[in-house]
Amino acid sequence: MFQLILLAWVIYILYRWLRRGAVPAPKPRTFEPSKDQPVEEMVQDPACGTWVPLSQAVSLPGKKETLYFCSSECRDKFLGGQGRNN
Ligand SMILES: [Zn+2]
Repeated sequence: MFQLILLAWVIYILYRWLRRGAVPAPKPRTFEPSKDQPVEEMVQDPACGTWVPLSQAVSLPGKKETLYFCSSECRDKFLGGQGRNN
Protein backbone atom coordinates (compact mmCIF):
# COMPACT_ATOMS: atom_id res chain seq x y z
CA MET A 1 0.00 0.00 0.00
CA PHE A 2 2.77 2.39 0.92
CA GLN A 3 4.51 1.61 -2.35
CA LEU A 4 1.42 2.64 -4.24
CA ILE A 5 1.37 6.01 -2.47
CA LEU A 6 5.08 6.48 -3.13
CA LEU A 7 4.58 5.58 -6.79
CA ALA A 8 1.69 8.02 -7.09
CA TRP A 9 3.80 10.72 -5.47
CA VAL A 10 6.70 10.08 -7.84
CA ILE A 11 4.33 10.21 -10.82
CA TYR A 12 2.86 13.44 -9.48
CA ILE A 13 6.31 15.03 -9.11
CA LEU A 14 7.28 13.86 -12.59
CA TYR A 15 4.03 15.24 -13.94
CA ARG A 16 4.63 18.61 -12.30
CA TRP A 17 8.20 18.65 -13.59
CA LEU A 18 7.10 17.83 -17.13
CA ARG A 19 4.39 20.49 -17.02
CA ARG A 20 6.90 23.11 -15.92
CA GLY A 21 9.35 22.16 -18.65
CA ALA A 22 6.72 21.89 -21.33
CA VAL A 23 6.04 24.58 -23.89
CA PRO A 24 3.70 27.24 -22.52
CA ALA A 25 0.10 26.75 -23.46
CA PRO A 26 -0.96 28.64 -26.58
CA LYS A 27 -2.58 31.97 -25.94
CA PRO A 28 -6.34 31.92 -25.75
CA ARG A 29 -8.03 33.34 -28.78
CA THR A 30 -8.75 36.85 -27.64
CA PHE A 31 -9.30 38.81 -30.80
CA GLU A 32 -9.09 37.01 -34.09
CA PRO A 33 -11.50 38.11 -36.79
CA SER A 34 -12.83 35.11 -38.61
CA LYS A 35 -12.39 34.87 -42.36
CA ASP A 36 -16.01 33.97 -43.04
CA GLN A 37 -17.62 36.88 -41.25
CA PRO A 38 -15.32 39.86 -40.86
CA VAL A 39 -16.12 42.12 -37.98
CA GLU A 40 -18.00 45.08 -39.35
CA GLU A 41 -19.85 47.93 -37.76
CA MET A 42 -23.59 47.58 -37.91
CA VAL A 43 -25.89 50.55 -38.30
CA GLN A 44 -29.62 50.71 -37.77
CA ASP A 45 -31.99 51.98 -40.36
CA PRO A 46 -34.17 54.60 -38.59
CA ALA A 47 -36.91 54.16 -41.17
CA CYS A 48 -37.54 50.42 -40.87
CA GLY A 49 -35.33 49.44 -37.94
CA THR A 50 -33.22 46.98 -39.89
CA TRP A 51 -29.57 46.53 -38.93
CA VAL A 52 -27.29 46.70 -41.95
CA PRO A 53 -23.52 46.54 -42.37
CA LEU A 54 -21.96 49.96 -42.67
CA SER A 55 -20.46 49.16 -46.06
CA GLN A 56 -23.87 48.25 -47.49
CA ALA A 57 -25.81 51.05 -45.86
CA VAL A 58 -27.10 54.09 -47.71
CA SER A 59 -25.67 57.07 -45.88
CA LEU A 60 -27.43 60.37 -45.36
CA PRO A 61 -25.22 63.05 -43.85
CA GLY A 62 -27.23 65.01 -41.31
CA LYS A 63 -26.59 68.09 -39.28
CA LYS A 64 -25.72 66.23 -36.09
CA GLU A 65 -24.86 62.77 -37.30
CA THR A 66 -24.83 60.69 -40.42
CA LEU A 67 -27.85 58.45 -40.80
CA TYR A 68 -27.69 55.08 -42.49
CA PHE A 69 -30.44 53.22 -44.27
CA CYS A 70 -30.78 49.71 -45.64
CA SER A 71 -31.87 51.08 -49.01
CA SER A 72 -32.45 54.32 -50.85
CA GLU A 73 -36.18 53.61 -50.62
CA CYS A 74 -35.98 53.75 -46.85
CA ARG A 75 -33.94 56.90 -47.05
CA ASP A 76 -36.55 58.55 -49.26
CA LYS A 77 -39.31 57.28 -46.98
CA PHE A 78 -37.52 58.74 -43.98
CA LEU A 79 -36.99 62.06 -45.73
CA GLY A 80 -40.60 62.10 -46.87
CA GLY A 81 -41.90 61.36 -43.39
CA GLN A 82 -39.93 64.14 -41.81
CA GLY A 83 -42.19 66.89 -43.07
CA ARG A 84 -45.34 65.62 -41.40
CA ASN A 85 -46.17 64.58 -37.93
CA ASN A 86 -46.90 60.90 -37.67
ZN1 LIG B 1 -34.84 50.06 -44.29
